[in-house]
Order: sequence, then C-alpha cells, then structure tokens
Amino acid sequence: MEHCILKIALDTPLDFTFDYRWCADVPDASWPLPGQLAVVPFGRREVVGVIVAVSNTTDVAPEKLKQVLAVRTQLAPLSAAWLALCGFAADYYQRPLGEVALPGLPKNLRALTTVALDKALKKLEKRGLAHDATPNATPKLNPAQQQAADAIAMSQGFAPSLLYGVTGSGKTEVYLQAAAQILAQDKDTENAAQILILVPEINLTPQLEGNIRARFPGVMVATLHSGLAEGERLLNWLAAHAGHARIILGTRLAILASLPRLRLIIIDEEHDPSYKQQEGLRYSARDLAVWRAHQLGIPIVLGSATPALETWQHALSARYRKLELRERAVPDAVLPKVRLIDMERDRPVDGITSTLVAALRQRLERHEQSLLFLNRRGYAPVINCDACGWVSDCPRCTAFMVLHKLDRRLRCHHCGLEQRIPKSCPTCGNVDIQPMGRGTQRVEEGLQLIFPEARILRIDADSTRLKGSAQAAFDSVHRGEVDILIGTQMVAKGHDFRNLTLVGVLNPDTALFSQDYRASERLFAQLMQVAGRAGRAAQKEGGSVSEVLVQTRYAQHPLYGALMAHDYDRFATTLLQERQQASLPPFIYQALLRAEAKELAIALEFLQQAATCVEHVGIIINDPIPMTMTRVANVDRAQLLVESASRPALQNFLKAWIAELRKIKARVSWSLEVDPVDI
Ligand code: ADP
Ligand code: ZN
Ligand code: ZN
Repeated sequence: MEHCILKIALDTPLDFTFDYRWCADVPDASWPLPGQLAVVPFGRREVVGVIVAVSNTTDVAPEKLKQVLAVRTQLAPLSAAWLALCGFAADYYQRPLGEVALPGLPKNLRALTTVALDKALKKLEKRGLAHDATPNATPKLNPAQQQAADAIAMSQGFAPSLLYGVTGSGKTEVYLQAAAQILAQDKDTENAAQILILVPEINLTPQLEGNIRARFPGVMVATLHSGLAEGERLLNWLAAHAGHARIILGTRLAILASLPRLRLIIIDEEHDPSYKQQEGLRYSARDLAVWRAHQLGIPIVLGSATPALETWQHALSARYRKLELRERAVPDAVLPKVRLIDMERDRPVDGITSTLVAALRQRLERHEQSLLFLNRRGYAPVINCDACGWVSDCPRCTAFMVLHKLDRRLRCHHCGLEQRIPKSCPTCGNVDIQPMGRGTQRVEEGLQLIFPEARILRIDADSTRLKGSAQAAFDSVHRGEVDILIGTQMVAKGHDFRNLTLVGVLNPDTALFSQDYRASERLFAQLMQVAGRAGRAAQKEGGSVSEVLVQTRYAQHPLYGALMAHDYDRFATTLLQERQQASLPPFIYQALLRAEAKELAIALEFLQQAATCVEHVGIIINDPIPMTMTRVANVDRAQLLVESASRPALQNFLKAWIAELRKIKARVSWSLEVDPVDI
C-alpha cells in the first residue's frame, strides 16, 4: 500500500505544522499535493487543515501518528504563491501559519462535509456567477488620467504607484481603464489575467460594484467581503480560485484570497484605517498587498487624495512612483472653498452657528443638498447631574454611557451594556439631569426645529443597523430625496453626491489635542475626504458656490490652514518631519504587547516580566502602561511598546521574545501586534 507523511497547518495557536500519515485507499489514488485541504483528527475533534508539504519522514512515533481522513481532491490545490503569502504574513505578524491560512478561507470550505462545496462547484460549472449588466459608456480620460492609466497598464514587473488625486479627480476611472487595458492584453481565456480591487467598505460604496459590472459586461466579477452569506462567499471564492472571476472586488480580507492569475492590485482610498484588521491576526491589507505584488512581480496602485504618511514617504523617496491628478474630472467642477467659523465669535445655538444656519438656508432655497459631519453617534456622549457631579459612567469600562434618546437607552459603545435612562440622579435624586455635548441624533433634532420643512436624513451606525439600510439611505440621497444629510465618517467616504454644495463640519477640535500621534493625520484625511463630497459637479446657473464650513475654536491651527489651502503635500511633509524628529513611524518600527487581566496590577506585572525576560540589542523597550481606555467589559488592559530603527532587528527580537512570553505563568491573556496603529 502506498503511503506518505503530510505536514499540515491547522488553525491552532501552536506554532508548527502537524504530521499525519496518508494511505491510498484505492490502488491508483492520486498522490496528495501541497495546497490541498485535508480532514484530520485533532484531539477529540476532526478539523480541516492545509497540506503544506508532502514528505516521507517524521519525528512522530509510528504508534502516535494519526491518519488523514480525507483529502479534498475536488478542489485544485492552493498555489505555492498563496502558501508563501500566508507564510510571510504568519512570520511577519508572529502568528502560526494555520491561524493565518485557515480563517481566511470560506467557512464552508473548512466544513467537515463537502455538501456545500460540491453544490457550489456544480453551480459554478453550470452557470458561473451572474455577469449580465447593461454596459455603460466609457468616458474619455483627461490627459492626466490617461497618463496614469497608461503608466499602470504598461508597467512591467513589480511596480508600485501612488495615484495621488484630489477628491473627485476621477481615480476610479483610472483604475477601470487601466484594468481594461490589462484584461485586453491577454485574450487567452485559459490564462486570463485577474485584477484585485480593494476598497475600505463595500456597503458604503455600492455604486462602484455596479459601475464595474456595467463597464465589463462580458467579464466575471466576484465580490469578497464579510457581509456575504456563506453560500455566496464560497461561490465567489471558488470563482476567484478557479481563475474564472477576472475582477475581484473586496475588502481587506480579500487580500488573502486565492488568485492564481493575479496581474494587478488596486487599493482604493489606501489611507483608510479599515485596511488594518484590529483583532485576531492584526494585519495591514495594504502592506500585505504590496508584498504580494512584489512576490508576483506585478503592478500595484495605491490611490488616495490623502495618502497614509507611510505611503507618502515611499513616494517622496521614489520607492513608489507618484501619479498625480490635480484637477477634478468633471469639466468645470472645482474644489470647494473651505472657510473656518470661529465659534468664539459666532456662538453656536444647539451646536450650530448662525453662519452655518444661513448657509444651510441658502442651499434649501436653491434645492441643493448639504451635509453635516459629526463623528459622534447617539444623542449625547454623557449625561450628568449638576447638583452632585454624577456622570453616566459605564460600570464596566473606562468610558461614558452614551445617551440614545430615541430608544430611551444609555448605551456603552465599548462593551455594549445598555441601561434605562434614570429619571433622577442615581446618587442624589436630583431630577434635573442633563445631556452634555451632542451626537448626531441631537443635531438632527435641533436642525429639524430650525428647518421644519427640510427633509433631513441621519446616516450613522445606529440608523443603518439593518442589512441594506445604508445602501437605501445613500440611494435616497442620490435620488434627491434628502435636503440635509447628517452623518459620521460613514458619509465621508467615496460618495459621488452630485447636488451637494455645502459641507458643515461640527466639532472637529477634540482630535487636535489627542495623545495619539496619528490623530492629526487621521483628522486631516477625514476632513479632506468629507470636504471632497461638495462641488463634485459644475456650478449650476444661479447655484451656490460649493463650500465647506468648519466650526472651530482653534482657527489658527496649522491643520486648518492646510485644509483651507487643500494642501495635503505641505501638511504631510510637515507631519513627516515631526515624526522624524520624534522618532515615530515610519522612521521607526514598532510592536505592541497587550495584556488583559481581571486586575490592572496583574497585567502590568506580566508586562514588567515581559520587559526583562530576554536579552536585546538595538531594541527600545518602553515602560508598561495602562491603556488609555484601561477597562473594557470588566477587563483591565495594559500595554508595552517595543521599537527599533531596524525592521529585521525587531523581527528577530520578536521571535525570541514570543518564545519566552509563552513560558511566563500569569493570569493574563496577551497578544502582540506588529505595526500597531492605535497606541
Ligand atoms: P475620486 O475617486 O478621485 O474622488 P471619482 O472617481 O468618484 O473621483 O470621480 C468623480 C466624478 O468624475 C465621477 O462622477 C466620475 O464619473 C467623473 N469622471 C471621472 N473621469 C471623468 C472624465 N474623464 N470625464 C468626465 N467625468 C469624469
Ligand atoms: Zn446628583
Ligand atoms: Zn462599557
């Protein structure tokens, strides 16, 4: 009987592959291959793993060696390049291979039965994915767009570019026409190119999917994101894996998809924080994408009006080629005028200054749309009692309970705890307890009083909880059924609102003084993005000049100066200089060890031990400190930041360190994040 040893990666915290014995059950059974999935016994369970290597030796004693139960031969093996990508991510983020490779696969592929898989394969073979759409016209690119699209499509080998284009400059059109050129280059259907387009959040940009399908009517387009039902996710994943799907549109998780003939990667709004996974394997999809493009020797495009400083630095140092679009694409559309409203002079009533009210009124009279941006949902961030100083603290977190007036609840946005709104102060009985500050709900309420006739729509995580409701809300804005839109960062991203001529920004100041050194980079990007929603069409006869009004108490702040000038270059360059002087990323490499425990002292003590448990050169180990939000859901959290000017030195240190950390006995749960963004 024929047999061999399979080295299999399993989704476990153990950092190695597991050896299993495979025996042919029929005489001519085909030999297993690396990249195939296999079902194996693991402890008392059966699990699906990925075969990493086929061998004939093992260190496991024969009586301990367990047998492979089944190999999923109906599925083509995952490629060596895919395994290498997972291997790199595992190595870089200090995780076991199996914890990278397996969770990225559709659930139905990891199921113990093949019912779903067989069904999906049959479906795919019979009819593929639906790809009928009415073709739309291809606009003629302006010279800057054309130059960018050609540069992308004609590049050879690994060629990273930053597509740096102001909001509304038509970056999407550049992606699509570069993609069209690449798809046209090889007509050979057996070996047809695949293009991966990553977007921050698909639900927020439903237009894009429609546009792509309409632009490429004969081409199979597959989407990959966490909002898909399992059946659909498997089908789309298989279409990509088989090479049938030629355009794959997805969120960050799609970077780990199997794409055997990948020829181009596009990352739209590359600065967006949602490319960073914030739990489990804390990877940066943007960084993995660059690695993947490098490994395959293909072009990659990072598009943004406000690139991440890391990306900007690469463009400055010419590691990335900079392709620039300075003008808005729609003829005669111009960037909005940004004005600051000094709140010390123009005192707001219900959070809105008289200048902003007047600007809103003008838009209403002219049947134009306005957008108010406030990055805080709920009615008020906290309620308090003037008599005794009580505030609505969350009993389980270092945070306030947020007032949600509509459903008469106090809600903690961190642990999810809900309470009824107390009728009187829980400490002193005072009945006059008041909401402090304001969130989107309260602005909506105030606005409705000022403009009773206006059609006001609020878009935030609360108003769009139901599936499809965000899309429905955006559709109604596009159909012109809304006069004033109020929203959180959900409304800032990517939308092409054609009749919007006013953006009002409420209360952005808090981020100016945050202790997070990335806060100003993020605030600037967010404000540029939200400002970019105004003036996307040419000014109409008798219509308003499009403008952005920012209510602030710090009108002299350089960040606002740069915003008024639409000057990302200068702002980014200044920030980079500051980062360099302060030895902050991207001029230093960081990793963050987090510890969670029932008591803060236990977490800190663990980190203290961690700080001294291994020798190191060229590594800075900072003091353990409680996290800014120390307590969440009754768990205390502390962190330890390690840094190095050398990435390889940090990587080597982390490997040795993790091994030592595993040996420390403490009642904590810890995790390590490489290139942390929230510290
Ligand atoms: P960005 O992503 O750079 O903010 P978009 O891709 O959303 O910009 O494009 C803004 C608008 O300009 C869209 O409505 C798009 O259809 C339009 N547009 C893009 N390119 C052209 C062009 N060459 N001619 C006319 N309109 C264009
Ligand atoms: Zn009180
Ligand atoms: Zn809480």
